[in-house]
Amino acid sequence: MRAMLFDGTSPRLREADVPDPVPAAGELLIDVHACGVCRTDLHVVDGDLTQPKRPLIPGHEIVGTVAALGVGVTGFAPGDRVGVPWLGHTCGHCRFCQRGRENLCDAPGFTGYTIDGGYAQRTVADAHYCFHLPRQYSDVEAAPLLCAGLIGYRTLALAGDAPCIGIYGFGAAAHIVAQVARHEGRTVYAFTRPGDHNAQRFARRLGAAWAGGSDEAPPEPLDAALLFAPVGALVPAALRAVAKGGTVVCGGIHMSDIPSFPYAWLWEERRIVSVANLTREDGAAFMAIAARHTLEIETTVYPLARANDALADLRDGRLTGAAVLTMR
Ligand SMILES: [Zn+2]
Ligand SMILES: [Zn+2]
Repeated sequence: MRAMLFDGTSPRLREADVPDPVPAAGELLIDVHACGVCRTDLHVVDGDLTQPKRPLIPGHEIVGTVAALGVGVTGFAPGDRVGVPWLGHTCGHCRFCQRGRENLCDAPGFTGYTIDGGYAQRTVADAHYCFHLPRQYSDVEAAPLLCAGLIGYRTLALAGDAPCIGIYGFGAAAHIVAQVARHEGRTVYAFTRPGDHNAQRFARRLGAAWAGGSDEAPPEPLDAALLFAPVGALVPAALRAVAKGGTVVCGGIHMSDIPSFPYAWLWEERRIVSVANLTREDGAAFMAIAARHTLEIETTVYPLARANDALADLRDGRLTGAAVLTMR
């Protein structure tokens, strides 16, 4: 099969022919149709995440159809459409797994990082971590649901019932989360790179009541701020924008250092929390929401061989919505 490989040194992926993977017991063999390109993929190829499998096939927003079943698989049949997310394996017995916090598992496997992912024509995945996908989305539209949507949803969930939400960084995750927040009756304010009027128009089209630069103050104090841009300087900025008791949720796996700030900005029970990974429960809850409300998924499509261009466009902020690779 054709695959794009990260060899662990250069951020540039190499196109190669590699042997088809073979499903082990409990695994699905999947014909990949589409795979989303996530900011985490950039952190992998740029070396911000330091322990990748080498060589690695990146990609953890995989949509395809089941081609074959490993021994003992239940719940899927050949021909089923299936989605594969970032969480690819958990140990099931560490203190976190046992307390329903498998997103924090001590011995996890992550798709497209420690396990080969979906920048390829075929992949294998542990069936216990795969999802059936809502029918109303095409393969390309469904791909960003698997991380941008799903981990975005966990980020929103950590904001509790905050009625007034600010979203910093209006890319793939934000454009889905903003719609979910609107369906829940929350007010959404969007913060983009200063002067990025294109992204601000995009945010308003998807229901943001206001959109401005990350250096601007929102029209009213926020109850929570969700950070999807990997920029540590936004943490104190967001703290200043949240009201007493407000929460700043950092939704990315990697962020530049957070500059120091006066304790007064944190005072009055403001909180800063990070989001790590996902649980299968998050996946089921989010896919139910995506099935109930048809979300508008904005994508830019690239053939598999142009994965490097997709990553470069994401890095340089040239995308509106999500980049998705297609395999045929
Ligand atoms: Zn565990
Ligand atoms: Zn991701």
